[in-house]
Amino acid sequence: MTLASRKHILIIGGNFAGLSTARALSSKYFDVTVIDPSTDFEWLPHIHELISRHKKADQLRHNRQLLIERAGHTFLQETVTVIDKTQQRVQLSSGQWLAYDDLVITIGNMSLIDKIKGARQYALPFGSVNEAERAALQLQRLDSLSLPERPVVLVGASIEGLEVLGEIIRRYRRQWRFQLHVIEAQETIMPQFQGMSDYLKELSRELNIQWHTGRQVKEVTKDSVILDNGDILSSRVTLWCAGAIPHPLLSEAGLAPERQYAPVNANLQSLVDEHIWLAGDAAAFPTSLEKQAYHALPMGALIAKNLNRARQKRDLNNFKPLPIPSLMSFGDVGFLLFKSHALASPSLIAAKEGVFQANFNLLKLPRQVSEWHDLKDSLTFSAINMGKLAKSTWIDGKLLHTRHFQAR
Ligand SMILES: Cc1cc2nc3c(=O)[nH]c(=O)nc-3n(C[C@H](O)[C@H](O)[C@H](O)COP(=O)(O)OP(=O)(O)OC[C@H]3O[C@@H](n4cnc5c(N)ncnc54)[C@H](O)[C@@H]3O)c2cc1C
Repeated sequence: MTLASRKHILIIGGNFAGLSTARALSSKYFDVTVIDPSTDFEWLPHIHELISRHKKADQLRHNRQLLIERAGHTFLQETVTVIDKTQQRVQLSSGQWLAYDDLVITIGNMSLIDKIKGARQYALPFGSVNEAERAALQLQRLDSLSLPERPVVLVGASIEGLEVLGEIIRRYRRQWRFQLHVIEAQETIMPQFQGMSDYLKELSRELNIQWHTGRQVKEVTKDSVILDNGDILSSRVTLWCAGAIPHPLLSEAGLAPERQYAPVNANLQSLVDEHIWLAGDAAAFPTSLEKQAYHALPMGALIAKNLNRARQKRDLNNFKPLPIPSLMSFGDVGFLLFKSHALASPSLIAAKEGVFQANFNLLKLPRQVSEWHDLKDSLTFSAINMGKLAKSTWIDGKLLHTRHFQAR
């Protein structure tokens, strides 16, 4: 195959799903360009640990260009603004058009923050390493100020919000100086499991935390959060962990109805265009699928496999979601969330950390000897971290503390 006859593949979004597709495509058969506005691949499932300083920003990201070039492809630091599926091309924010033979869309989702009055301006979102770092610094600053009151509002207490809350507690519990309000739209925290709400509240019992369940935020101002029942909560730092919505590019391109994710078939092809593929959070798979990185990674890899099979005129493979539970952390306690039940134990924190260390280091695996230095630092960090976890869980005997929750 000559260079000129290779198929042009554009991948929009270069994080979990996009990077996974790129890494599994051979540059021998495909001319691949990955487009993403940000410079680094980011391990989002652990950004809440920036709050407690159990992680540093650099331990959660890696240079995207390096990772993509290692796979033999091109990285373009840009934003796609238009998808023109009739002419098989996309437009970048610079105005330039790029043509494709096949298009892979892995743009994740967007925060609900833009839909609530004042929230984008005054609340701190949690969608990237930089955003989490900013939130961590604001909390640190508030804690250090000499003030009679230090009110903080956390909006959203599903998995992401609870993980953030757990890290705030982990970091500030010893000298707790915040008046923390947690707002959650559902009537109960983690309503799918019996007794989990009470357990989470028990873990934070002696701290000044008020839970507002069944409430939604109407407006955020510079120093307050206004709820749908008219209550006004004073706030010096407002953290936003509530809700994700589909990227508007999907409906604008005619790939999804308005405000919906783009439907795909079992091969991960768009239902409206067989040359458009979707993976990760942006895709609406035929059966219900959690929006999780552990699905985004294999979805991305399957698209690469199917592009290769299509090239060889072979039947395409179906995506088979991994039947594994979600892992959630709440400070020092880890949770394994199955469909039928859940388990909570400090030892499960080590499981979550292990998943992160193994997968992140695998993504960074060098192709050349000169690149090993970079991985060495990362592996050293992994070993130290796992050692600390082993001490505080297994050696101190906390492993025995396990709680069980039945699904409702
Ligand atoms: C705080 C937090 C905790 C989480 N915890 C877990 C967990 O414990 N386990 C788990 O499995 N998952 C977890 N998740 C979910 C997981 O991070 C997502 O499911 C995963 O990131 C989805 O991968 P993706 O590739 O589809 O999208 P993303 O990782 O969101 O990547 C989308 C990429 O597309 C780019 N992009 C967007 N728009 C454009 C455009 N117009 N042009 C070009 N590029 C664009 C973005 O810059 C981004 O790099 C968590 C998420 C968060 C935020």
